[in-house]
Amino acid sequence: MTFEEKRRRLVESLTSRKILTDPKVVRAMLMVPRHKFVPEEAVSSAYIDSPLSIGQGQTISAPHMNAMMCEYLELKEGEKVLEVGTGSGYHAALCAELVAPKSSESKGHVYTIERLKQLAEGAKRSLKDTGYENIVTVIHGDGTLGYPEAAPYDKILVTAASPSKIPHPLKKQLKNGGVLCIPAGSKNFAQNLYIIKKRGEKFETKRVSGVRFVPLIGKFGFD
Ligand code: SAM
Repeated sequence: MTFEEKRRRLVESLTSRKILTDPKVVRAMLMVPRHKFVPEEAVSSAYIDSPLSIGQGQTISAPHMNAMMCEYLELKEGEKVLEVGTGSGYHAALCAELVAPKSSESKGHVYTIERLKQLAEGAKRSLKDTGYENIVTVIHGDGTLGYPEAAPYDKILVTAASPSKIPHPLKKQLKNGGVLCIPAGSKNFAQNLYIIKKRGEKFETKRVSGVRFVPLIGKFGFD
């Protein structure tokens, strides 16, 4: 079976399980070649709905988690997005397909921060190989500080688990009306995925599901 066929099967399985419902997210998941973002030894498992090791003790999230986070964020063409936790670069590419589809003239952009230099560099290479280098900017640094240079953001997603106290720079760097999608809780155990909407000076927080992510490590994260 070709990678395209495997990818289509994965997407069909996510839609039949009602995890994927938004046609724009379906399109993005069909467009982005996940097998180009995983290490050589994991290529044959790239279209299994499972997290995979990407080295340095880190993982690329399971596709159903990518799909869920993209749907909760309701990404639109032209939006400016910040991702904390670049990892492989795959989720950043998915966001890029939603805010600036390759086929469009859209000015959307994705900034993504990774604390581990080797992963940031690998992600940059994969994003270049797949043609997303002009839509995604990879930054090596501590994402708990956000990325004030390009703030404010329409949407922020965090793909590592924060302590229950959400890093305040991320809330600050969100536009009024913007959405933050973040897993939070304890370092290695129970965590929840939260959708936080900024309404003026107020934040509306909704818990959407239980999850398990690697820890967010940094000044406003875990030690
Ligand atoms: N979104 C990624 C993908 O598509 O492959 C998966 C991310 S992985 C589950 C979480 C990533 O967050 C790891 O690569 C980890 O090094 C990174 N991370 C943890 N704390 C961080 C921080 N303070 N700033 C930036 N990245 C961080």
